[in-house]
Amino acid sequence: MTWRRLQPAVFHPFQLVTQTIVYTSAMRALILTILFASSLSAQTLDQLADKALPSVVATYKTLHANPELSTKEEKSAALVASKLRELGWEVTERVGKYVDPSLTSYGVVAMMRNGEGPVVLVRSDMDALPVPERTGVDYASKNQGVMHACGHDVHMATLIGTAQMLASLKSQWRGTVMLVGQPAEEVVKGADAMLRDGLYERFARPDYALALHDWATVEAGKIGWRSGYVLANSDSIDITVRGMGGHGAAPHTTRDPIVVAAQIVLALQTLVSRENSPLDPVVITVGSIHGGAKRNIIPDEVKLALTVRTYKTEVRERVLASIERVAKGIALAAGIPENLAPLVEVIRSEAAQATYNDPALTERVVNVIRTKLGEANVVEIDPGMAGEDFGRFGLDRKIPVSLLMVGAADPARIAAGQRLPSLHSSEFAPPPELTLRTGMRAMTVAVMELLRR
Ligand SMILES: [Zn+2]
Ligand SMILES: [Zn+2]
Repeated sequence: MTWRRLQPAVFHPFQLVTQTIVYTSAMRALILTILFASSLSAQTLDQLADKALPSVVATYKTLHANPELSTKEEKSAALVASKLRELGWEVTERVGKYVDPSLTSYGVVAMMRNGEGPVVLVRSDMDALPVPERTGVDYASKNQGVMHACGHDVHMATLIGTAQMLASLKSQWRGTVMLVGQPAEEVVKGADAMLRDGLYERFARPDYALALHDWATVEAGKIGWRSGYVLANSDSIDITVRGMGGHGAAPHTTRDPIVVAAQIVLALQTLVSRENSPLDPVVITVGSIHGGAKRNIIPDEVKLALTVRTYKTEVRERVLASIERVAKGIALAAGIPENLAPLVEVIRSEAAQATYNDPALTERVVNVIRTKLGEANVVEIDPGMAGEDFGRFGLDRKIPVSLLMVGAADPARIAAGQRLPSLHSSEFAPPPELTLRTGMRAMTVAVMELLRR
């Protein structure tokens, strides 16, 4: 029944009063019907989640036991694809093209087209990390030295659970849902590979993009959110400091690259403390420094490897340029000739863009999650300086995106005041049932809010 059918075609003046009364009460009844039908009750949501949970948990344990490294997610992707297909989704596999043509992209895209309406993309990453597992769980990794230490197995299982719930609720939403199983997040190559392969041209261009990431400091059962910047630009830089080596006992006959490298390491921190607004976070970490072979030899070169984290584009560009200026300036001051100036290389293939959670989208989905999961189960989190490539799906903020966090900290550990293993830790072990059930419910209501009938 629609509004239009209830409107009288013509109002006769003498009927107006009675008709107004009749239609007012009819309209009120209709509004209630529409509200009742379109608003998914918390009870229905819980029932659907409970129905899906046993199989979702079993899939999670299979994925956890069989982790695959970035760009090698063949079996994980095949499992995700087959589960989504079983649930009635239109699935395409091996979506994505890496810059390196020798690599296969195992991207999965699952579509459910349900009439006119917006397109919502929901993304799960699929890759694991080179971490030897030490959780002691009975579904621990069977792949030596490889572990789902970032919880991308939680994301895949949640995606499957959400797919099941959205399929069951198909009569209550309209539009298109595009589920994306993304490979190679940990090396920030997967989102780019899928977009390069025409993700939006081949399937649909989303009006909104959502993702969940498990969060090691939020209690399982809760959802964490943040508006605006939530994760940082991440840039990798290699600096080769070149000098003129010689005998360690005759430094005056050399140009010592070790001393120059040491000065660069310290001077780089003044870019953070002296050249940057304290309100704009910047991290410059020299994570590796290598040079020299023997105590009494001054070497010809020293290599530094840096990671740099920022939020704003202008800050990013300024800091990257300043790193080069400082490195070259210090070498010049040490008397190293111009032709031996430090080589500063920004490794573009490892760069990740900051994740900026669109404030309006975030507020909209967080409000509905609050209503359905309870006010106490939704918490604002601090932003972090880690990197993610989910933001790429927003095409430089042309498409609003929001990355929500699903709590993964064991409530028993929190109650006992125990240390919480961080993401990427060999001990990271989210409690499966609670984490997955919360993620599925939150993502389902978020998507349904955006595709309201
Ligand atoms: Zn990670
Ligand atoms: Zn991750």
